[in-house]
Amino acid sequence: MAVDPLIELRDVNKYYGRLHVLKDVSLTVGRGEVVVVIGPSGSGKSTLCRAVNRLETIESGRITVGGRDLPEEGKALARLRTEVGMVFQSFNLFAHRTVLDNVSLAPVKVRRRSRADADRRSRELLDRVGLADQADKYPAQLSGGQQQRVAIARALAMDPEVLLFDEPTSALDPEMINEVLEVMRQLARDGMTMVVVTHEMGFARSAAHRVVFMADGRVIEDRAPEEFFTSPRSERARDFLSKIL
Ligand code: ADP
Ligand code: MG
Repeated sequence: MAVDPLIELRDVNKYYGRLHVLKDVSLTVGRGEVVVVIGPSGSGKSTLCRAVNRLETIESGRITVGGRDLPEEGKALARLRTEVGMVFQSFNLFAHRTVLDNVSLAPVKVRRRSRADADRRSRELLDRVGLADQADKYPAQLSGGQQQRVAIARALAMDPEVLLFDEPTSALDPEMINEVLEVMRQLARDGMTMVVVTHEMGFARSAAHRVVFMADGRVIEDRAPEEFFTSPRSERARDFLSKIL
């Protein structure tokens, strides 16, 4: 893939107190690239995602998005958070708002779109995630898989440059996992830049341009999926794969 870096991490270190959770992490995500991050629990995957959105600060190193250092506060930080969308394991929808409202809220409040414009766009996005007919329902009336697809539509409503997914299917019943992965596959085919933390190795094999394997706060491998899955170089990766495949 041609290198037009959208996200760059250089020698990033992060501590929680004395716990060293990101250790000299360097990683580049190109525009249009799909990078799947895998690794054992506690290896720093969520912290990495949160650092890119500046939900966590770092102690040393450098993170840039679109060539710019992460802003510390204020309007610039708010803008960064619209450029870098995030989809979490727990969907965090507003329970007392309709599906349509959940998607339109941020464009109206943050982007100052008119309600009518925002709703029109939200309906398009709900159609894109296969939920055109659910717009007027409340989250509790939807299945987990449908709620997660609403969360994806909500993230897309801000026109992000990149979407970060932190274990988007881990809280779902097995029969709902595929409908969410299918929406993510379609986004990937449409050229969306994506960083996806997941244990879904089928998705990694079929949709990722690169697999990043993390263990104990470090990036251990960063390679094409086929190479990684057929001939992992490190003992840690071989051990991890033997447990999950
Ligand atoms: P992963 O997502 O790969 O499971 P995390 O990034 O969540 O890993 O966590 C990395 C390490 O940091 C773990 O040891 C975890 O317990 C610790 N950790 C995560 N968040 C916090 C926090 N807010 N305060 C203290 N320790 C944390
Ligand atoms: Mg995590």
